[in-house]
Amino acid sequence: MSGLGKLRVAVIGAGAAGLCAARHLLSRPDAFAPPVVYELSKNIGGTWVYEERVGHYDNGLPIHSSMYRDLRTNIPKEVMSFPDFPFAKRLPSFVHHTEVRKYLEQYCDHFRLWDYIQFGTSVASVSPVDVKDGWKGLAWNVSTNDGLDLSKSTTEQFDAVMVCNGHFYDPYIPAIPGLNKFKGTLMHSHDYRSAEPLAGKSVVVLGAGLSGLDIAMELSNVDSKVILSHGQRPLSCPLPPGVTQAPPVISVLDDGTLEFRDGQTAKPEVFMFCTGYNFTFPFLHEEVGIQVQEHLVWPLYKFLIPPAYPSLFIVGICRAICPFPHFHIQSQFVLSVLDGSFRLPSREEMEKDIELDIAARRARGIATRHILKLDSEQWAYNDHLAHLGGFQPLPRYWSNLYESNKVFRARDMLNYKGYNYTVLKDMDWKVHDLHGQQ
Ligand code: FAD
Repeated sequence: MSGLGKLRVAVIGAGAAGLCAARHLLSRPDAFAPPVVYELSKNIGGTWVYEERVGHYDNGLPIHSSMYRDLRTNIPKEVMSFPDFPFAKRLPSFVHHTEVRKYLEQYCDHFRLWDYIQFGTSVASVSPVDVKDGWKGLAWNVSTNDGLDLSKSTTEQFDAVMVCNGHFYDPYIPAIPGLNKFKGTLMHSHDYRSAEPLAGKSVVVLGAGLSGLDIAMELSNVDSKVILSHGQRPLSCPLPPGVTQAPPVISVLDDGTLEFRDGQTAKPEVFMFCTGYNFTFPFLHEEVGIQVQEHLVWPLYKFLIPPAYPSLFIVGICRAICPFPHFHIQSQFVLSVLDGSFRLPSREEMEKDIELDIAARRARGIATRHILKLDSEQWAYNDHLAHLGGFQPLPRYWSNLYESNKVFRARDMLNYKGYNYTVLKDMDWKVHDLHGQQ
């Protein structure tokens, strides 16, 4: 704790989550010393910093962003934004990724965050230490490196740590028997930048999540022949020309042919994995006991707090959510825990809560790997945290507009980004279909 009795909080990562954490910490100078935000790259924005290269940066660190050149957002700006900082009025609802990066830079300007970010500083280890006068008798040693230069290592002590290192950078590739026999180009969407290099090629895209669908559409525009292979029910909305569907690939035969679950086969030139990412927290000391099993990060009370170390917060690991507002809610909840406005239950009670929550989800048929996918439950989760922490919940129209966009997207994936939304004074909203006019 600093001499003034204010809590010192380290934030790992200056993506949207880390910036949001810093914005809220700075808004409470009564309780918190200015935060230290560690960012390994030279930029804020994380995912939204488009990088033409694939592989590694010059300093040897792996490229973080999975952004592709022509990406436009899949959530309308009216609900994608942080609730206390709207996107510019002049922009359409679905913006190009460069606008999101600018938006995050404006967020830093507006909330004066720049001075608190240490760029080019990679967090190498975070370990708990017992201290007499710390928050709940606990503090954290945070060691950082100057890029990859291990000789320039520094350690600072903090009362709490908010981990905001993102989870769309370490490609997950499912184990498919015989994969090493595939003779064409294997790639993950993390390394996809634009469609042109794949023009006219035959491609099997594995996974029909948002990236899989988006990339299939981009490939269709350059006359690639795409088989969208996935385990969901067949999509019923119109697909772009040249895109067909197939069940998941279950094996690769000796001659490199892909075999689908229904027995059909294909021998594409490219096999692209749109299969998501692994969670990794390489800097967390193993004593903290955070485990990642089948895409579930646990044990975390409210998907955020390890019960044994309640001054560590893993922000933004939930999936199928509206990220920026989610970070806004989680950050305020963290502050309410640290400033005591919400009194955390005992360690045993938190562990029981986690156990019951996971058991209840499993009983509803949710597989372990989908437990962090909150989807429509995110709104109850957000409201619950706001209620516990005693702060403003999201405006009422938020969930409704977001959920409607999901319906429009499922019905008409080819055109939904042509819609524009207007939020009305009474917090209702309306949609205009501008397709063909843009
Ligand atoms: P990130 O943006 O990944 O930021 C993490 C930061 O932590 C990075 O800057 C990284 O350099 C830094 N870092 C990591 N490790 C360390 C370390 N050890 N030391 C120091 N710094 C570290 N969301 C939407 O709302 N709308 C969309 O349309 C949308 N489209 C998307 C499209 C793609 C292709 C992807 C991949 C994601 C998309 N998302 C979208 C989700 C997006 O990831 C979130 O909106 C959000 O940007 C995640 O922010 P974050 O801060 O959690 O992580």
